[in-house]
Amino acid sequence: EVTVLRLGHRPGRDDRMTTHVGLTARALGADRVVLSTDASHSRDTITDITDRFGGPFTVETTDNPKRLVSSFEGTIAHLTMYGLPVQSVEDDLRATTDPLLVVVGAEKVPFDVYDRADFNVAVTNQPHSEVAGLAVFLDRLFDGRELEQEWTDADRRVIPKETGKKVVPTSDAE
Ligand code: SAM
Repeated sequence: EVTVLRLGHRPGRDDRMTTHVGLTARALGADRVVLSTDASHSRDTITDITDRFGGPFTVETTDNPKRLVSSFEGTIAHLTMYGLPVQSVEDDLRATTDPLLVVVGAEKVPFDVYDRADFNVAVTNQPHSEVAGLAVFLDRLFDGRELEQEWTDADRRVIPKETGKKVVPTSDAE
């Protein structure tokens, strides 16, 4: 099971990025995202997308995201530009059968997260974005299989088209 934890959410300023962390986690194969309680706007948007476009995917909130890091029973991968290159740790990560917690930050991440993490993982050692880092990380973790994911309980489905947009109710999509 893969859980993504969003640390350091600043209400207002980070709403869009936090929403995109959740949507990217869902689209690229994670099972669940955990947000802080004050990211309720992002939680509602991600839940709404899951209701419309399908799951399985769970959105949870906690009033103490840092405690999830310290109490998590499983392997923790913290995404940071200061970590080891993803291409050098992806085999070890894939070999893990434990539940995996993937931690992404917003503002400065406290040092105890670096300390507790089993893997501090860099997607390049250049500064960029938690959304981009998460996308590349999940794609490496699942080795591209997440692109073929089947969705359940969707009420609509996009039919791929060379040009234009086609969305159909799921009952008509098969
Ligand atoms: N300046 C902050 C710090 O030093 O912790 C990080 C700010 S950055 C905009 C927000 C998040 O994006 C980071 O906490 C990290 O999870 C992710 N991130 C940014 N660049 C990354 C990279 N090269 N590799 C992996 N994750 C990255």
